[in-house]
Amino acid sequence: MEKTIYLDNNATTRVAPEVFEVMKPFLTELYGNPSSMHTFGGQVEKYIRESRESVARLLGCDSSEIIFTSCGTESDNAAIKGILSAYPEKRKIITTRVEHPAVLTVCRELQSEGYKVVELAVNKEGQLDLDELQAEVDEDTAIVTIMYANNETGVIFPIDRIAEIVKAKGSIFHTDGVQAVGKIPMNLEKSNIDLLSISGHKLHAPKGVGVLYVRKGTRITPFIIGGHQEKSRRAGTENVAGIAAIGKAAELAMKNMDLENTQVKKLRDKLENALLKTCKDAHLNGDKINRLPNTTNISFEFIEGEAILLLLDQFGICASSGSACTSGALEPSHVMRAMGVPFTAAHGSIRFSLSIYNTEEEVDFVIEKMPAVVNRLRELSPFVKK
Ligand code: PLP
Repeated sequence: MEKTIYLDNNATTRVAPEVFEVMKPFLTELYGNPSSMHTFGGQVEKYIRESRESVARLLGCDSSEIIFTSCGTESDNAAIKGILSAYPEKRKIITTRVEHPAVLTVCRELQSEGYKVVELAVNKEGQLDLDELQAEVDEDTAIVTIMYANNETGVIFPIDRIAEIVKAKGSIFHTDGVQAVGKIPMNLEKSNIDLLSISGHKLHAPKGVGVLYVRKGTRITPFIIGGHQEKSRRAGTENVAGIAAIGKAAELAMKNMDLENTQVKKLRDKLENALLKTCKDAHLNGDKINRLPNTTNISFEFIEGEAILLLLDQFGICASSGSACTSGALEPSHVMRAMGVPFTAAHGSIRFSLSIYNTEEEVDFVIEKMPAVVNRLRELSPFVKK
């Protein structure tokens, strides 16, 4: 097989070489438990502190507001369930139809347990109606959880404005920042965001580490209880290597933020413009302006996304499709459905998500191969008149 061309960075990212270097000592000689009384274990604590400070710098908050978790999913669960448990008298949750399952599945389960859950709709650009949000937040609303940027389309919600609306109504605001952190500058101290989730593996750190930002003074019940780690806010012996890694990744993300918005965006735009031009019946999904610099989601009408991925795979090209095989049938993703993307387009939607490690040569290779892939599948498609 040829070289891998990895354009699936919203699924997971490569661990940065600098991040891997930082992790090594904790997997070899520095294996002590940071809670131990002895110097050997205790010395590790300092690296956790440094990492906490580094993540806080990236988010523009205080290091005491950073809690290390195991992943983005845990952070989302901990935020939602932790707030509900701290405000048992409030029974309403507001979210959107396009959240990641790490939020949506939790909300739907809570609905089946008796909570009132409102899933806000999006328009065909994937954007929310903020008047609808404003009308929905009331005294019974325990938490509003709305993602910063969508993993499938890259669409960015106006989170500062949303947080302002929620705060003015006296509710708590959580945002799933998993896809946004490192790509969009943030200053949480100046915002009205109460809680924000991060995942290490979307940020060139490894899988198995995440962060939950909790604004100072926020009333929240711990999700995982046991030992006194993380000031009893998240029990469990720390994943020290992972924590050191996310600290380094945060430092690199700050340094590389400009590259995301120049180099990566330029490559994304080159790829997108070329595919929309050279492939017939191809359309962009989602807001063209308000979106992540690394993501493009394109529908190639009348053909199956899965089939496109299989053919791209033969060239070593990795991307994702907007449909998933559920119970033997290909279902368009909930995000495509929420945006009202027509059936024949939703099925053929492909997400390309880039990173600072992609090169122009790689993008040119995809641009060269894609029209033939699409044409070949169209010849086989029962939806195309021959
Ligand atoms: N939230 C969003 C927006 C995501 O894209 C993902 C992962 O794809 C998650 C949450 C879950 O993160 P993790 O894989 O770290 O559990």
